Amino acid sequence: MPNLSTHLKLGVFTYPVFVLVYSLIVNAAGKSFTATVIDLSIGYVFYVFGSDLPDLDSNSAPLRTFIKALSLGFAIYIFYSFIYEKFSTIVVIPKILLIPISISVAMLIGAAVVNLFLSLSLFSHRGFAHSITFAAIYGLMLYLFSYQMSDIPLFIGISGFCGVMIHMTADYYKKPLKIFKLK
Ligand SMILES: [Zn+2]
Repeated sequence: MPNLSTHLKLGVFTYPVFVLVYSLIVNAAGKSFTATVIDLSIGYVFYVFGSDLPDLDSNSAPLRTFIKALSLGFAIYIFYSFIYEKFSTIVVIPKILLIPISISVAMLIGAAVVNLFLSLSLFSHRGFAHSITFAAIYGLMLYLFSYQMSDIPLFIGISGFCGVMIHMTADYYKKPLKIFKLK
C-alpha cells in the first residue's frame, strides 16, 4: 500500500500530464482549452488533495487528522457567508469580531459533519472512499462550488475526480478492475 508521501508525489508529478490529456481532449472536441492561471492553480490544489483524500478512511492517524483539518477550508467556503449574514444581524457582536466568529462557527459545523461522515461504517478502510463513486461525488462537489470562482468549473471538477482516480490507480494497480469499483 503506497504511503502518504508516494500518493502526494504521484499527485504532484502527474498533474502536468493530466492537464496535457485534458487539453488534448478539449481540442479534439473542437474547443480551445481556456484555463487561466487561477484555474490551473485551483485545479492543482484539488487534484493533489484528491490524490490523497481516499486515505481519510485509513487508520493512519496523522493523515486522517491532516485531511480533516484541510477539509475545514471547504467548510469555511460553504458555510461562512450564510453564518456571517445571520450573525451580522445580532447587534451585540462587535463588527471586528464578526469575521473570526463566523469562521470559527463554519469550522465547527464542518468538523461535526466530517466526524459524522467518518463514523459511518461506510468509511471502513478501503471502503466507499476508495471507489469511483466517491471520486465522482468529490468531482461533482468541486464542479458545483467552483461556479463562482472559475469560468471552467468542469475543469476544476474533473481535476478533483482524476486526482482521486490517480490514488485508486496507485492502490490497485495489481488488481486493475478494483480501480473502477463502485463502492
Ligand atoms: Zn488508499
